[in-house]
Amino acid sequence: MNEQDKTFLKGQLALLTPNERLKLLKRAALLRKAAPKSTMRGAATRTVVTEEDDGPTRLKMRSRSASLDEFLLRLLREDRAVDEAGMPTDTSLKATVITIHKGRCDVLFRGQMRNCPLTPELERTQQTSIAVGDHVLLFQRGEHYVVDRVLPRKTKLSRPDPQTETRERVIVANIDVVVIVVSVFSPPLHPRLIDRFLVAVQRGGARPVIAVNKIDLLRDESELDVLDPYRPLGIPIVKCSAEAKVGLQDLMAELSGQTAAFVGHSGVGKSSLVQAIRPELDIEIGAVSGGNSRGSHTTRRSTMYQLGQQTQLIDTPGIRSFGLWALSADEVEESFPEFANLQCKFRNCTHTHEPQCAVRAAVDQGTVSEYRYETFLRLRESVS
Ligand code: GDP
Ligand code: ZN
Repeated sequence: MNEQDKTFLKGQLALLTPNERLKLLKRAALLRKAAPKSTMRGAATRTVVTEEDDGPTRLKMRSRSASLDEFLLRLLREDRAVDEAGMPTDTSLKATVITIHKGRCDVLFRGQMRNCPLTPELERTQQTSIAVGDHVLLFQRGEHYVVDRVLPRKTKLSRPDPQTETRERVIVANIDVVVIVVSVFSPPLHPRLIDRFLVAVQRGGARPVIAVNKIDLLRDESELDVLDPYRPLGIPIVKCSAEAKVGLQDLMAELSGQTAAFVGHSGVGKSSLVQAIRPELDIEIGAVSGGNSRGSHTTRRSTMYQLGQQTQLIDTPGIRSFGLWALSADEVEESFPEFANLQCKFRNCTHTHEPQCAVRAAVDQGTVSEYRYETFLRLRESVS
């Protein structure tokens, strides 16, 4: 057995309770006994002592070619077997993270909610290593389950950690759709934030949808002209009102059968929309504070709600600004699909000063939105 295996074995055994350790030892001993005789060499007896709740227990075992440790290792590996992609071959201990607390998280496991502790290693790094929507593998410790590790993510939405910019903070994981919620008023429409979200959504692999809430406060359709640049991008734009119960079916149609997350500025009505879609859910809505009409900033945790059999919706706390994590200049460009088919004179055109730049020509002609182009320039500058 190599050093790596020994460390793994030691670490795994340390996580078990004395009783679990004994059970595992017994299983390993049985396996070893049943191993083909040809592997048996000598008949020396070895005594293994295990600490049990009711005192030490001695197990007498004959040495065979494969040591007991090797059988223990095999069992531990089988209990948490994974394929080449890191996915468990046995999915019976797979769970989905619903919400996260310090050192613990609520998971959906075999159709039930469970509050499970994280392993010490996960707890140490929980702000970066685990997110709502993550698929995790549990291991059983007596009657309890512990969150052992996070499985590879299909998609994610991340931003830089507010304290340590170089560190990734995953907001939600394994989402099919990210609904960028904005409101007509209070707070006013901020297309710049939409642009930043779009870059992050595209990078994380999910599909973006824009939901314009509080449509009941709209005085004139022209107030939505700021969204014109997004119409040619093929991003669905849903107009809705949680209050007036308008557009909720259109919104639902975008989410149905998928895992979706609501993101956006605080006070735009994310929670109100979740509540309006499913009134039976009990969600705290930001109270209007004092004389100002903005929803007060309520610090909430991201939480996943089950809407019917196949639809999951994650409500995230509001954020004031949205940084972009470890973005390269190429990635900035890739986030502007409207530039994709434009042929500039220079292949590595930065679309800032070069002659015969097709992007700038398109902006001049009005086929690419000036507003989006400005966002591009800002983002480009922030990464160079
Ligand atoms: P969140 O921070 O994005 O989750 O926003 P909340 O759902 O807490 O809502 C913030 C405030 O906006 C609350 O006072 C809501 O009552 C109000 N609100 C939400 N949706 C609407 C809407 O469609 N129309 C109007 N007029 N107000 C809304
Ligand atoms: Zn160019």
